[in-house]
Amino acid sequence: MTETLKQAKPENTVPFGFEDVDRTAKAGLVRGVFDRSARRYDLMNDLMSLGVHRAWKDMVMTRANPQPGERLLDVAGGTGDLARSFLTKADRAGKRRASPRQAEAIVLDINEQMLRAGIKRGVEPAQAGRIQWVTGNAECLPLASHCVDCVTISTGIRNVTDRAAALADMRRVLKPGGRFLCLEFSRPTSRGWGKLYDAWSFNVMPELGEHVARDRASYQYLVESIRRFPDQDSFAGELRQAGFRQVSYTNFSGGIAALHTGWA
Ligand code: SAM
Repeated sequence: MTETLKQAKPENTVPFGFEDVDRTAKAGLVRGVFDRSARRYDLMNDLMSLGVHRAWKDMVMTRANPQPGERLLDVAGGTGDLARSFLTKADRAGKRRASPRQAEAIVLDINEQMLRAGIKRGVEPAQAGRIQWVTGNAECLPLASHCVDCVTISTGIRNVTDRAAALADMRRVLKPGGRFLCLEFSRPTSRGWGKLYDAWSFNVMPELGEHVARDRASYQYLVESIRRFPDQDSFAGELRQAGFRQVSYTNFSGGIAALHTGWA
């Protein structure tokens, strides 16, 4: 990686944790991180967030308000948490309205190991055959334009090399009026809370990575990459730039994460 750093011109570099790497190298480096963490990903998520990521994801899906017959694309979907929740909530809505229509979901991820971990975890019988697991890059989605009702991306966008391209492509695949929801780690809203969060993430998370996943480096990357991601208002500006309408955000857990939403 050091060689890559030496040769790269500043305009060709992108952040990878606290380092700047050649933009052509980032996707491979990110893939390596998730190749190594896929097996223990769900367990580590629960440990590092003390289970709070489940509440965040539930709030994302409550806002998404899934309906029977709808189709979700979950980009950087990893092991499929959001897709399962989308189908569960859509089925509940269908029961209330006695609708026979079934929702479906596509989980797209650049990393096959993450998708395999999700497939291995399985789905409830009622969801069998309704989730498609697709390998692909958020920057050039292998989908037709205007083919999904809802696009989600949860703690994935900061790993993408060309964010503008990914946002534009996620908007492209949404039907007119379709909704976009992005959950990402963000900036704590108070200094005291930020200090506590820094202490937890710089000390505890890499330690957990080392002892539970036997991989300190990947979890160090995770913590660093969060610090290099734009703050709430800057990222909302990127969404507007990509053409999303009625962009807004909601802080979760005092700004540790934020849910950004917009309409196609
Ligand atoms: N969305 C899942 C969740 O919330 O549990 C997984 C989040 S995990 C922190 C980030 C995911 O982004 C990984 O599965 C990784 O493979 C995926 N990823 C990174 N870069 C990507 C890209 N350019 N296109 C698609 N997926 C990508």
